[in-house]
Amino acid sequence: RQELIYISTGSKEFDKILGGGFETGSITELYGEYRTGKTQICHTIAVISQLPQHLGGADGKCLWIDTEGTFRPERCVEIGKRFNLREDCILENITYARAYNTDQQLQLLQQASALMMESRYALLIVDSAMNLFRTDYIGRGELQARQSLLGRFMRMLMRLADEFGVAVVITNQVVATVDGAMMFNADPKKAAGGHVLAHASTTRLSLRKGRQESRICKVVDSPRLPESDATFAITANGVED
Ligand code: ADP
Ligand code: MG
Repeated sequence: RQELIYISTGSKEFDKILGGGFETGSITELYGEYRTGKTQICHTIAVISQLPQHLGGADGKCLWIDTEGTFRPERCVEIGKRFNLREDCILENITYARAYNTDQQLQLLQQASALMMESRYALLIVDSAMNLFRTDYIGRGELQARQSLLGRFMRMLMRLADEFGVAVVITNQVVATVDGAMMFNADPKKAAGGHVLAHASTTRLSLRKGRQESRICKVVDSPRLPESDATFAITANGVED
Protein backbone atom coordinates (compact mmCIF):
# COMPACT_ATOMS: atom_id res chain seq x y z
CA ARG A 1 0.00 0.00 0.00
CA GLN A 2 1.25 3.43 -0.93
CA GLU A 3 1.90 6.18 1.59
CA LEU A 4 -1.01 8.53 2.06
CA ILE A 5 -0.87 11.70 0.10
CA TYR A 6 -3.30 14.56 0.59
CA ILE A 7 -4.57 16.69 -2.27
CA SER A 8 -4.80 20.32 -1.27
CA THR A 9 -8.15 22.04 -1.66
CA GLY A 10 -6.53 25.33 -2.61
CA SER A 11 -7.44 26.89 0.76
CA LYS A 12 -5.21 26.64 3.84
CA GLU A 13 -8.20 26.81 6.19
CA PHE A 14 -10.03 24.08 4.32
CA ASP A 15 -6.88 21.91 4.19
CA LYS A 16 -6.46 22.30 7.92
CA ILE A 17 -9.77 20.68 8.85
CA LEU A 18 -9.03 17.86 6.40
CA GLY A 19 -5.63 17.15 7.90
CA GLY A 20 -3.91 18.33 4.72
CA GLY A 21 -6.53 17.85 2.03
CA PHE A 22 -8.45 15.11 0.28
CA GLU A 23 -6.99 11.80 1.34
CA THR A 24 -5.75 9.41 -1.34
CA GLY A 25 -6.87 5.83 -0.94
CA SER A 26 -10.25 6.74 0.47
CA ILE A 27 -13.65 8.17 -0.39
CA THR A 28 -14.77 11.65 0.52
CA GLU A 29 -18.34 12.78 0.01
CA LEU A 30 -19.14 16.44 -0.49
CA TYR A 31 -22.77 17.16 0.14
CA GLY A 32 -24.72 20.37 0.16
CA GLU A 33 -27.44 22.32 -1.52
CA TYR A 34 -27.35 23.71 -5.03
CA ARG A 35 -24.56 26.25 -5.57
CA THR A 36 -22.70 25.49 -2.37
CA GLY A 37 -19.55 24.91 -4.43
CA LYS A 38 -19.36 21.14 -4.89
CA THR A 39 -18.53 21.31 -8.59
CA GLN A 40 -16.12 24.24 -8.15
CA ILE A 41 -14.19 22.29 -5.52
CA CYS A 42 -13.99 19.44 -8.03
CA HIS A 43 -12.62 21.76 -10.73
CA THR A 44 -10.00 23.05 -8.32
CA ILE A 45 -8.76 19.64 -7.17
CA ALA A 46 -8.82 18.29 -10.73
CA VAL A 47 -6.04 20.84 -11.31
CA ILE A 48 -4.20 20.66 -7.98
CA SER A 49 -4.01 16.85 -8.00
CA GLN A 50 -1.70 17.12 -11.02
CA LEU A 51 0.87 19.21 -9.16
CA PRO A 52 3.92 17.71 -7.45
CA GLN A 53 3.48 16.81 -3.79
CA HIS A 54 5.42 19.76 -2.44
CA LEU A 55 2.85 22.04 -4.10
CA GLY A 56 -0.14 20.24 -2.63
CA GLY A 57 -0.72 17.80 -5.46
CA ALA A 58 -0.38 14.08 -5.88
CA ASP A 59 1.49 14.01 -9.16
CA GLY A 60 -1.21 12.16 -11.06
CA LYS A 61 -4.06 12.40 -13.49
CA CYS A 62 -7.70 12.99 -12.72
CA LEU A 63 -10.68 11.01 -13.96
CA TRP A 64 -13.90 13.00 -13.92
CA ILE A 65 -17.19 11.15 -14.19
CA ASP A 66 -19.87 13.71 -14.89
CA THR A 67 -23.53 12.85 -14.48
CA GLU A 68 -24.89 16.40 -14.67
CA GLY A 69 -23.03 17.97 -17.57
CA THR A 70 -21.45 20.62 -15.36
CA PHE A 71 -17.76 19.98 -16.10
CA ARG A 72 -16.15 23.03 -17.74
CA PRO A 73 -12.63 22.51 -19.11
CA GLU A 74 -12.16 26.25 -19.40
CA ARG A 75 -12.69 26.56 -15.63
CA CYS A 76 -9.78 24.17 -15.07
CA VAL A 77 -7.64 26.23 -17.42
CA GLU A 78 -8.58 29.42 -15.58
CA ILE A 79 -7.79 27.86 -12.20
CA GLY A 80 -4.53 26.43 -13.57
CA LYS A 81 -3.19 29.94 -14.25
CA ARG A 82 -2.71 30.33 -10.53
CA PHE A 83 -0.14 27.54 -10.65
CA ASN A 84 1.41 28.58 -13.97
CA LEU A 85 0.21 25.40 -15.59
CA ARG A 86 -0.05 25.19 -19.34
CA GLU A 87 -3.51 24.86 -20.80
CA ASP A 88 -2.78 21.77 -22.89
CA CYS A 89 -1.01 20.03 -19.98
CA ILE A 90 -3.91 20.62 -17.61
CA LEU A 91 -6.48 19.16 -19.92
CA GLU A 92 -4.27 16.29 -21.01
CA ASN A 93 -4.22 15.16 -17.39
CA ILE A 94 -7.98 15.15 -17.01
CA THR A 95 -9.93 12.24 -18.44
CA TYR A 96 -13.55 13.14 -18.83
CA ALA A 97 -16.49 10.76 -19.02
CA ARG A 98 -20.18 11.53 -19.15
CA ALA A 99 -22.78 9.10 -17.77
CA TYR A 100 -26.44 9.41 -18.67
CA ASN A 101 -27.79 6.55 -16.61
CA THR A 102 -26.76 4.39 -13.68
CA ASP A 103 -25.67 1.47 -15.89
CA GLN A 104 -23.20 3.75 -17.65
CA GLN A 105 -22.10 5.17 -14.33
CA LEU A 106 -21.12 1.69 -13.12
CA GLN A 107 -19.61 0.68 -16.45
CA LEU A 108 -17.34 3.70 -16.33
CA LEU A 109 -15.87 2.48 -13.07
CA GLN A 110 -14.87 -0.75 -14.75
CA GLN A 111 -13.16 1.24 -17.48
CA ALA A 112 -11.59 3.37 -14.77
CA SER A 113 -9.77 0.36 -13.45
CA ALA A 114 -8.21 -0.27 -16.88
CA LEU A 115 -7.16 3.38 -17.19
CA MET A 116 -5.62 3.38 -13.75
CA MET A 117 -3.54 0.33 -14.57
CA GLU A 118 -2.08 2.17 -17.55
CA SER A 119 -1.10 5.42 -15.90
CA ARG A 120 -0.93 7.05 -12.51
CA TYR A 121 -4.24 8.58 -11.51
CA ALA A 122 -4.42 10.53 -8.27
CA LEU A 123 -8.06 11.51 -8.26
CA LEU A 124 -11.44 10.14 -9.26
CA ILE A 125 -14.36 12.55 -9.20
CA VAL A 126 -18.00 11.54 -9.52
CA ASP A 127 -20.12 14.68 -9.80
CA SER A 128 -22.76 13.84 -8.77
CA ALA A 129 -22.91 10.31 -7.46
CA MET A 130 -26.60 10.25 -6.70
CA ASN A 131 -28.68 12.13 -9.23
CA LEU A 132 -28.95 9.33 -11.80
CA PHE A 133 -29.99 6.90 -9.09
CA ARG A 134 -32.77 9.32 -8.23
CA THR A 135 -34.00 9.57 -11.81
CA ASP A 136 -33.49 5.91 -12.80
CA TYR A 137 -35.31 4.58 -9.76
CA ILE A 138 -38.26 6.79 -9.07
CA GLY A 139 -40.93 4.54 -7.62
CA ARG A 140 -41.13 3.45 -4.05
CA GLY A 141 -41.13 -0.17 -5.18
CA GLU A 142 -37.74 0.35 -6.77
CA LEU A 143 -36.06 1.49 -3.59
CA GLN A 144 -34.46 -1.84 -2.83
CA ALA A 145 -33.08 -2.26 -6.34
CA ARG A 146 -31.66 1.23 -6.18
CA GLN A 147 -30.01 0.74 -2.81
CA SER A 148 -28.48 -2.48 -3.96
CA LEU A 149 -27.02 -0.96 -7.13
CA LEU A 150 -25.82 2.05 -5.18
CA GLY A 151 -24.13 -0.28 -2.72
CA ARG A 152 -22.36 -1.96 -5.62
CA PHE A 153 -21.28 1.39 -7.00
CA MET A 154 -19.82 2.39 -3.63
CA ARG A 155 -17.96 -0.91 -3.26
CA MET A 156 -16.43 -0.41 -6.70
CA LEU A 157 -15.28 3.05 -5.65
CA MET A 158 -13.72 1.67 -2.48
CA ARG A 159 -11.90 -0.93 -4.46
CA LEU A 160 -10.46 1.68 -6.85
CA ALA A 161 -9.36 3.78 -3.89
CA ASP A 162 -7.68 0.77 -2.30
CA GLU A 163 -6.11 -0.70 -5.38
CA PHE A 164 -4.83 2.43 -7.05
CA GLY A 165 -4.42 4.80 -4.12
CA VAL A 166 -6.63 7.41 -5.75
CA ALA A 167 -8.58 9.96 -3.80
CA VAL A 168 -12.23 9.34 -4.61
CA VAL A 169 -14.36 12.45 -4.30
CA ILE A 170 -18.10 12.18 -4.84
CA THR A 171 -20.72 14.88 -4.62
CA ASN A 172 -24.28 14.69 -3.48
CA GLN A 173 -26.85 17.42 -3.86
CA VAL A 174 -29.24 17.58 -0.96
CA VAL A 175 -32.18 19.76 -0.01
CA ALA A 176 -32.51 21.59 3.28
CA THR A 177 -35.53 21.02 5.46
CA VAL A 178 -37.30 23.77 7.36
CA ASP A 179 -35.16 23.33 10.46
CA GLY A 180 -31.99 23.40 8.38
CA ALA A 181 -31.25 19.70 8.66
CA MET A 182 -30.05 18.03 5.49
CA MET A 183 -32.00 15.32 3.80
CA PHE A 184 -31.30 13.35 0.68
CA ASN A 185 -34.80 13.72 -0.63
CA ALA A 186 -37.75 15.83 0.40
CA ASP A 187 -39.51 12.58 1.24
CA PRO A 188 -37.53 10.84 3.98
CA LYS A 189 -39.10 7.49 3.13
CA LYS A 190 -37.50 7.72 -0.27
CA ALA A 191 -34.21 8.86 1.28
CA ALA A 192 -32.32 8.61 -1.97
CA GLY A 193 -29.45 6.42 -0.97
CA GLY A 194 -28.68 8.59 2.00
CA HIS A 195 -27.58 5.95 4.44
CA VAL A 196 -25.85 3.77 1.87
CA LEU A 197 -23.65 6.71 0.93
CA ALA A 198 -23.12 7.71 4.53
CA HIS A 199 -21.85 4.29 5.52
CA ALA A 200 -19.62 3.75 2.54
CA SER A 201 -18.00 7.20 2.37
CA THR A 202 -14.99 7.35 4.60
CA THR A 203 -15.21 11.07 5.19
CA ARG A 204 -18.32 13.19 4.79
CA LEU A 205 -18.18 16.94 4.36
CA SER A 206 -21.16 19.22 4.45
CA LEU A 207 -21.09 22.48 2.53
CA ARG A 208 -23.12 25.60 2.99
CA LYS A 209 -23.13 29.15 1.71
CA GLY A 210 -21.68 32.00 3.68
CA ARG A 211 -21.68 35.64 2.71
CA GLN A 212 -21.06 36.46 -0.95
CA GLU A 213 -18.41 34.13 -2.32
CA SER A 214 -17.62 32.53 1.01
CA ARG A 215 -18.51 28.92 1.75
CA ILE A 216 -18.40 26.90 4.94
CA CYS A 217 -17.35 23.29 5.06
CA LYS A 218 -17.98 21.08 8.06
CA VAL A 219 -16.43 17.69 8.71
CA VAL A 220 -19.48 15.63 9.61
CA ASP A 221 -18.24 12.10 9.75
CA SER A 222 -14.69 10.89 9.60
CA PRO A 223 -12.69 8.12 11.21
CA ARG A 224 -9.63 10.37 11.45
CA LEU A 225 -10.80 13.98 11.75
CA PRO A 226 -12.54 15.93 14.51
CA GLU A 227 -15.80 17.69 13.69
CA SER A 228 -14.82 21.18 12.66
CA ASP A 229 -15.66 24.04 10.32
CA ALA A 230 -13.64 25.97 7.77
CA THR A 231 -14.51 29.05 5.77
CA PHE A 232 -13.06 29.50 2.31
CA ALA A 233 -13.89 31.39 -0.88
CA ILE A 234 -14.83 30.44 -4.40
CA THR A 235 -13.42 32.91 -6.89
CA ALA A 236 -12.18 32.98 -10.46
CA ASN A 237 -9.13 31.13 -9.08
CA GLY A 238 -11.25 28.30 -7.77
CA VAL A 239 -11.11 27.48 -4.07
CA GLU A 240 -8.93 29.81 -1.99
CA ASP A 241 -8.78 31.43 1.44
P1 ADP B 1 -22.83 23.10 -6.76
O1 ADP B 1 -22.04 22.15 -7.60
O2 ADP B 1 -22.69 22.86 -5.30
O3 ADP B 1 -24.26 23.24 -7.17
P2 ADP B 1 -21.04 25.04 -7.90
O4 ADP B 1 -19.78 24.38 -7.55
O5 ADP B 1 -21.49 24.97 -9.30
O6 ADP B 1 -22.21 24.55 -6.93
O7 ADP B 1 -20.88 26.54 -7.42
C1 ADP B 1 -21.50 27.56 -8.09
C2 ADP B 1 -20.95 28.85 -7.53
O8 ADP B 1 -19.55 28.95 -7.80
C3 ADP B 1 -21.58 30.03 -8.17
O9 ADP B 1 -22.70 30.42 -7.45
C4 ADP B 1 -20.48 31.07 -8.09
O10 ADP B 1 -20.60 31.71 -6.86
C5 ADP B 1 -19.20 30.28 -8.06
N1 ADP B 1 -18.45 30.35 -9.32
C6 ADP B 1 -18.57 29.54 -10.37
N2 ADP B 1 -17.76 29.93 -11.38
C7 ADP B 1 -17.10 31.00 -10.94
C8 ADP B 1 -16.13 31.87 -11.50
N3 ADP B 1 -15.66 31.70 -12.74
N4 ADP B 1 -15.67 32.88 -10.74
C9 ADP B 1 -16.12 33.05 -9.50
N5 ADP B 1 -17.06 32.28 -8.91
C10 ADP B 1 -17.54 31.27 -9.62
MG1 MG C 1 -22.61 20.88 -9.14
